[in-house]
Amino acid sequence: MRVLAVGAHPDDVELGCGAALLAHRARGDRVGLLVLTGGERGPQGQSSRISEQEIAASILGADLVWGGFEDGAVPEGRAAVAVVEQAIRAVGADVVYTHSPRDSHQDHRSAAAATLAAGRHVRRILMYETPSSIGFAPTVFVDAAGHLPGKLKALRAHVSQVSKNDLVDLEAVEAQARFRGFQARLLHAEGFETERFAWDLGGVHEDGEVFETGAGAVSGYADAHPASR
Ligand SMILES: [Zn+2]
Repeated sequence: MRVLAVGAHPDDVELGCGAALLAHRARGDRVGLLVLTGGERGPQGQSSRISEQEIAASILGADLVWGGFEDGAVPEGRAAVAVVEQAIRAVGADVVYTHSPRDSHQDHRSAAAATLAAGRHVRRILMYETPSSIGFAPTVFVDAAGHLPGKLKALRAHVSQVSKNDLVDLEAVEAQARFRGFQARLLHAEGFETERFAWDLGGVHEDGEVFETGAGAVSGYADAHPASR
């Protein structure tokens, strides 16, 4: 699989789906991160948040790209959709993780809206929770077995958020993983909402395309079904 995770600010992706991304890497999947802003409105300057995110991405084994939008002012229209579309193409993503659209932070809502629009041809879109999610009700769970320490390590790379200003509470992150695991009949899990999740059981599409060929399968579908463009 080829995976893209979209976050509005440095640390959002690690909080929402850090263990899932590590699980993807462990099975050899390519993982790209798109972080839409530099988080410059937080208590630390932008330069430290950018270097923190670079360290976290390397802990996750992910390729990092920046969206270049202003913290607090992520647009949900054409400009952000185009940036996410470009990242989906660059990664050849057939799985996309992003924010849940129900969130009290405007950047999180915009990131979700732009990603859902940009990902209209992607078969699997998983929406993760953040501390500002509202009424989050996951129905898809990823087993975090063995990847919780890595998730916490990636979060600790965000020094300005975790150890300097107590904006991220790692004890709560662990408790949340245990609770989502309990709901999923697992020890630890991450929970996701989804609008579309094609479960691949290793079959072949009606048009003869084999599942799991990443970008090729997606463009093959669009070529055969131009109306879906
Ligand atoms: Zn955020």
